[in-house]
Amino acid sequence: MAVHLHEEDLPEGVLALGAVAVDTETMGLVTPRDRLCLVQISDGQGDEHLVRFGAGSTFAAPNLRAVLSDPARVKIYHFARFDLAAIEHYLGVVAAPVFCTKIASKLVRTYTDRHGLKDLVREILAKEISKQQQSSDWGSSELNEAQREYAASDVRYLHALRDELIIRLEREGRTELARACFEFLPARARLDLAGWPVHDIFSHTSA
Ligand code: MN
Repeated sequence: MAVHLHEEDLPEGVLALGAVAVDTETMGLVTPRDRLCLVQISDGQGDEHLVRFGAGSTFAAPNLRAVLSDPARVKIYHFARFDLAAIEHYLGVVAAPVFCTKIASKLVRTYTDRHGLKDLVREILAKEISKQQQSSDWGSSELNEAQREYAASDVRYLHALRDELIIRLEREGRTELARACFEFLPARARLDLAGWPVHDIFSHTSA
């Protein structure tokens, strides 16, 4: 198990076939304003790859874009909506098909309102992850050890979470509903980018 840091692109051939866990770190929550600094990716075999983009990056990253846009690879996220918007805006690809552990959690863990990654990892996998570096300076040219470990831990458990959430979705008869939600997520991310980040267009009210 190791964390690999790469600059500006993923090396070719470092990932096994199949689903990949994906997360992003940015300068903030306003996607067009706050640049993409890091994309974390894991094939679920124990290694995490961090791809760092410098200030003024062109985001060419052909290998990373090929993986993210590969229709044969499911991309597993926790809160896919944010990552899909950042990836589409900066890397120019729709990183689907999608499995979102946060949406799946909301569809099956209706006994709680705690759907953060930390909560899921604790309840489902009995492991602890730290969220301390969440609001750190991801734009720095030198990511420190704590930042690298935090970034890697955000993709480390997504495959295992998905496995258990698939079982619970099936048990509760919500597999098809989850699939439909996942399919809609790229469009939801595009609504965020197009100017509807808060306004729910499905709501009866117009505000
Ligand atoms: Mn993260």
